[in-house]
Amino acid sequence: MKTDVVIIGGGPSGLLLSQLLNRAGVETVVLERSPRERVLSRIRAGVLEAGTVEMLQKAGAGERMLREGHPHEGCIFSDGDLMVRIDFGALTGKTVMVYGQTEVTADLYAAQDAMGATILHEVAEVAIRDADSDAPFVEFTHDGARKRIDCAYVAGCDGFHGVSRRTIPESVRREYERVYPFGWLGLLSRTPPAHDELIYANSANGFALASMRNPMLSRYYVQVPLSDRVEDWSDDRFWERLKSCLPGEVAETLVTGPSIEKSIAPLRSFVSEPLRWGRLFLVGDAAHIVPPTGAKGLNLAVSDVFYLHQALIDAVRHGETAGIDSYSERALRRIWKAMRFSWSMTMMVHRFDGEDSFAAEMRRATLLHLSQSETARRDLAENYIGLPF
Ligand SMILES: Cc1cc2nc3c(=O)[nH]c(=O)nc-3n(C[C@H](O)[C@H](O)[C@H](O)COP(=O)(O)OP(=O)(O)OC[C@H]3O[C@@H](n4cnc5c(N)ncnc54)[C@H](O)[C@@H]3O)c2cc1C
Repeated sequence: MKTDVVIIGGGPSGLLLSQLLNRAGVETVVLERSPRERVLSRIRAGVLEAGTVEMLQKAGAGERMLREGHPHEGCIFSDGDLMVRIDFGALTGKTVMVYGQTEVTADLYAAQDAMGATILHEVAEVAIRDADSDAPFVEFTHDGARKRIDCAYVAGCDGFHGVSRRTIPESVRREYERVYPFGWLGLLSRTPPAHDELIYANSANGFALASMRNPMLSRYYVQVPLSDRVEDWSDDRFWERLKSCLPGEVAETLVTGPSIEKSIAPLRSFVSEPLRWGRLFLVGDAAHIVPPTGAKGLNLAVSDVFYLHQALIDAVRHGETAGIDSYSERALRRIWKAMRFSWSMTMMVHRFDGEDSFAAEMRRATLLHLSQSETARRDLAENYIGLPF
């Protein structure tokens, strides 16, 4: 087989890149390890920046999102009963879109199918060969046979545990990491959301997030120690903890119900540089992870695709390589700013084990400052709705 760009990973970044390249006449083959149903069952991101919304429209995969997604003009930060609203609309003129990653991925698969794009599922033992030469190729096992695709470029969109990053020699890679000493236990339920906007709640019992997917589907998170397992948390225990973290007036009216999904996600900040090695490019979670606090992971994957898709079109269609030469540097500049925001929000809203009383006062003072300073609220809003590409 032969193609212009082999894309490893059929998650949101791989599918979006493939879609934008195909629309510009660049041929791709997407290699995905999992069956499609498994990719579509991952309950993850739910908040899309304004730039992500534009990119999905540009890719021809935004129609259902505009119809069924929920634009949000603000969100709430709380500490006990103190609630501060960040008004994105008034502060930045922009909004975010609440639309689940599952839906984004389903729309991208539908758009790719409509174009007749090549997506191979359940591939195994993917190996990227000669990425530092002018003739890279990718080997993999599919339908019981070992296969090979020759290509001009390889895009590594295969997430944190994929093969692409590890293909870059250790002597070339620089890795930066911060692991936080807690995780988020998430629960999905067919219940009306606690509030019509997201609530980032700080409390003596730690952090909680009240979030949603639609008017009858709620997504909640509570902070848990890394040693906890999902089995340790009955639904009743979860609801009780959540209520103790939310402001009183919200907890009082919270509608509870059986969970339809529960999972624990560890929190980590991670960046691997550079994003390019020869003809291999890293995109999305393959190169960086943010704690979910700032809702940036999926959005960062999309901004990487923004920089890379045009660069690959210029290289494949017109032989112009300035874009691919500067991809790593341009994407990393935005990645580090989102890293800083996600880290600072994580520090602002979580309770750290063994912390002293000073730390809790600092968090409360930060919230009081937010409540009184429009400058502070604008800074937070600009970062939350997404810095420009
Ligand atoms: C609980 C949770 C909540 C989150 N909330 C948010 C949020 O609110 N907002 C936000 O923006 N982000 C959020 N994120 C982050 C977001 O989900 C990720 O950043 C996003 O999925 C990254 O997309 P990706 O395509 O780069 O990687 P992935 O989604 O990880 O996709 C990679 C794909 O590659 C495939 N793959 C892996 N290895 C191989 C291989 N060797 N060969 C072939 N295929 C392979 C995988 O099966 C997968 O389908 C959250 C994440 C979690 C866990």
